[in-house]
Amino acid sequence: MPRLIGISNRTAAGGSKAGGLAVALWEALAESGGLWFGWSGEVTKTAPRGVELFEEDGVEFAVTDLTEAEHQGFYLGYSNRSLWPVMHYRVDLANFDESEFAIYAEVNRRFAKLIRPRLQRDDVVWVHDYHFMLLGRDLRELGWDGRMGYFLHIPFPPPEIFKSLPDHARLVRGLAAFDVIGFQTTNDRRNFEKYILEEMGAKALGDCRYEVQGRAITIKAYPIGIDADEFARLSVGDAAQVAQSRIKPFLGNRKLILGVDRMDYSKGIPQRFEAMGRLLDHDRDLHGKIAYTQIAPPSRTKVEEYADLRGELDELSGRINGDYGDLDWIPIRYLARSYPRDYLAGLYRIASLCLVTPLHDGMNLVAKEFVAAQDPANPGVLLLSQFAGAAEQLSGGALLVNPHDLSGMADAMREALRMALPERRRRWEAMNKVVNEQDITWWRESFIADLSPDRPLGSSASPA
Ligand code: ADP
Repeated sequence: MPRLIGISNRTAAGGSKAGGLAVALWEALAESGGLWFGWSGEVTKTAPRGVELFEEDGVEFAVTDLTEAEHQGFYLGYSNRSLWPVMHYRVDLANFDESEFAIYAEVNRRFAKLIRPRLQRDDVVWVHDYHFMLLGRDLRELGWDGRMGYFLHIPFPPPEIFKSLPDHARLVRGLAAFDVIGFQTTNDRRNFEKYILEEMGAKALGDCRYEVQGRAITIKAYPIGIDADEFARLSVGDAAQVAQSRIKPFLGNRKLILGVDRMDYSKGIPQRFEAMGRLLDHDRDLHGKIAYTQIAPPSRTKVEEYADLRGELDELSGRINGDYGDLDWIPIRYLARSYPRDYLAGLYRIASLCLVTPLHDGMNLVAKEFVAAQDPANPGVLLLSQFAGAAEQLSGGALLVNPHDLSGMADAMREALRMALPERRRRWEAMNKVVNEQDITWWRESFIADLSPDRPLGSSASPA
């Protein structure tokens, strides 16, 4: 087995290894005696010190600090104020700044230079996510000709949207240096395919292979999964029961409607609140009978658009509670904080309905976690945005909604709350099968298999 080199902005070092991706990568790296490279999480005033090397539970880590200028330009700037909004179809929220792109490119180059001397002949490199679209090309320019894969965890939009990034061509030329490029969904893969066919004169070679700039590369969808067994186990664990007993006094006999999201404008939380307002406006009989709890810890608070969202949610929930609440009932319980995974698992399990309604989302793991945590004898209903990556896999069981259609969402909530047990079970079984079969191990193994030494290498393929 070749040694695996994982590269991602944040590594799982030092923290809990909870979280599907952290565990999956950790396992793959430990099995192969691998190395995980990334940002230390520290920001320094002066020039970075190079890399810090250490070992943790069988995995070697190499991390580097970011300078304040790099943190601003690379992380908060280009990654999260240009790439993140555009990739989530929000050109209106994007900020395009040449100097930030220059810092993004410099950080990719600096990371490549730090990694290159540590690569050995048969290593396999696996780069993660939008922070490092240029890093593969940098490694090639530094003489690395070994196997190299890239997985994009967020959506890839249609070319008309992607091309609003002034440096779109350079980004895709960067990606074309990899041997395998993985996307979350076939829709994302198709958008990327359209871009390379139209903009780069690529040729389809069949079987997910393309010739791009003289190299043959594999371009495929690998929908990321969760550790479904772990979530099923956590949902009946001690912490799950503590969480359930804490929420019970507020719940009484009411049905729990649950939302769990990082506070991000891509998650469609304001639209969800508005849809709840519509439901309460039309269905007076539901007043006092349902309890909507939205857990949404603030994230990226240093980015302006995220602070705006916080204000919007505070105002909307306040208004809806003011309009529809009563002495003994608060319609929306909105908690701007995070909870441990084992707590969440307990809440998922007793929820009658889970609202996962992003405007766009690479996959959305909350949808899968909710499914895995259900009681098979009495499962809840998943209301899922058609624009979440998970919709491609879960359409057989979820109620799919358009998150911009407020009445449609209110109708779907009503339908879910009235759904009879046989239909709930049938829908849940269909989803649970996929969540278990295409879990995090399946995802990791599928990707790594396509990068393995018995597959043809990009650079060795002759143009069709
Ligand atoms: P994203 O990666 O955009 O945040 P996902 O739904 O794919 O969205 O993954 C989010 C992960 O973070 C899930 O594993 C989920 O359990 C966790 N998470 C989301 N919201 C919370 C929260 N409020 N408290 C704790 N964990 C959360």
